[in-house]
Amino acid sequence: MTDLVIRNARLMTCDPSLFGLGVIDPGAIAITGGVVVWVGSDGEHPRDAKREVDAGGRLVTPGLVDCHTHAIFAGDRAHEFAMRAEGRSYLEIAAAGGGIAATLGPTRAASDAQLIAMMSERLATARAGGTTTIEVKSGYDLTVAGELRLLRCIAQADRTLRMRVVPTLLAHLVPPERAGDREAFVRDLCEQLIPQAARDKLAASVDVYCDEGAFTLEESRAILGAAHRAGLRVRGHVGQFKDLGAAELIADLGGLSADHVEQISDQGIAALARAGTVAILLPGACVQLRLPVPPIAKLRDAGVPMAIASDLNPGSSHCETLAIQMWLATTHYAMTVDEAWLGVTRHAAKALGLSGPGTLVPGGPGDVIVWRCEEPAQVPYRYGASQVEAVFVAGEP
Ligand SMILES: [Zn+2]
Repeated sequence: MTDLVIRNARLMTCDPSLFGLGVIDPGAIAITGGVVVWVGSDGEHPRDAKREVDAGGRLVTPGLVDCHTHAIFAGDRAHEFAMRAEGRSYLEIAAAGGGIAATLGPTRAASDAQLIAMMSERLATARAGGTTTIEVKSGYDLTVAGELRLLRCIAQADRTLRMRVVPTLLAHLVPPERAGDREAFVRDLCEQLIPQAARDKLAASVDVYCDEGAFTLEESRAILGAAHRAGLRVRGHVGQFKDLGAAELIADLGGLSADHVEQISDQGIAALARAGTVAILLPGACVQLRLPVPPIAKLRDAGVPMAIASDLNPGSSHCETLAIQMWLATTHYAMTVDEAWLGVTRHAAKALGLSGPGTLVPGGPGDVIVWRCEEPAQVPYRYGASQVEAVFVAGEP
């Protein structure tokens, strides 16, 4: 007996064995036990479903995958946003108590229950916008014990929310109190934080912020090397402000993703293409910080898979909604509509090392969005209001 059939749909499967977005129109999908059991043409679907949903010809897609967020934090930085809008410099904002210090203090002071409640609210907003799988990074405590606490809180959300939550350990920055003692701080990350997070299965991968003002290439090599030794996949915030050569480092380690890449060399692009590493593009943060557009045409020509994410964070992109990022990708970044869709589905899942989410194929999870529109282009085109009609996670509404 089939649990659920969604039929009479413009069905976007994102099946890699089909052309483009793998659209079947009119299509149908069957889900049993939370798993997709059948995909095909409308009319040929199983007839024994306990529940049948007639999509009325509307667009039906995989649940969206947000592959880069900093969704666990406390504190508000709207004041900093206003200062930036007035044209104040980064240094002026930092002198007024802005920057990461404005997030570190409140995050360290918040209880587990408070952090989980704030994060869960953000995740619920993301789900209302069609996101069913979401990556969440630690990174706003910057002590060994505090980062482990954030990862445990992320795992709690995983148990209570009906979403797929993928935890990442982020080596974000050197905290202000360790500025005089960077070497020892990096050693703490490599010898304590990373091995313990791996032992306790608190993170699927380790992300390093390798850029001017964050970790150097040598420090990043040590951090990602420790992750590799601990059996964790690697990824990085790369070239947001300056290209330090970290894309090549991540590719050499068989890394999952190189993120931001506003600045990346031709050699860096070639290395990502060779390794099959995903470039995660974060147009919301790029626009807010008024950074140059990444070299999309070069990434496309080299065959680098491109994902798009919200970068949900309190400093540069306080946004839970992927449709807005798809709009920025198709307008400001001049990506195609098909690229934007693959960027929030199959390619985003690949960036998390997942093969099931982000597609609708037999054996994959029954995470499905029914949209109010019929055309894929409508979602980024009409980005201002949610066009999500219904969200199914593992076949459950
Ligand atoms: Zn980020």
